[in-house]
Amino acid sequence: MGNNFTKKCLELGISPSITRKKIYEYLETSRNHPTVDDIYRDLIDSLPTLSKTTVYNVLNLFLEHNLVESINTSNNEKRYEIKDEGHSHFTCKICNTIYDVPKVSTSYDSTRIPGFTIENEQVNLIGICPDCMKKI
Ligand SMILES: [Zn+2]
Ligand SMILES: [Zn+2]
Repeated sequence: MGNNFTKKCLELGISPSITRKKIYEYLETSRNHPTVDDIYRDLIDSLPTLSKTTVYNVLNLFLEHNLVESINTSNNEKRYEIKDEGHSHFTCKICNTIYDVPKVSTSYDSTRIPGFTIENEQVNLIGICPDCMKKI
């Protein structure tokens, strides 16, 4: 896993610093669609010099290099995950959990919007998750 990241960095020409590596590994293992605050809170113990600005900068660098993507959610807080186009998201409007669900593809035909180049299609389903459904 770690070597994988180092290799990716070399390919991309960015330096695999320990902070970058930890943030990448965190995203890769937690899979909980964290915010900058979540990442900061969970990594500050192992990286005492970490700041939220650093987390933010590292995420932006990863975004630039297509290692991670930010997720569109119904509320304004930005969440991040390792780039993986094989799934879509379901956001529960009650507990705010974002679930990974099998990819939902639309049959959007880009020729219907001439002049625009689509680079990324994100489908975010919104509703009530099974856990919250039980409590209603
Ligand atoms: Zn829920
Ligand atoms: Zn996801």
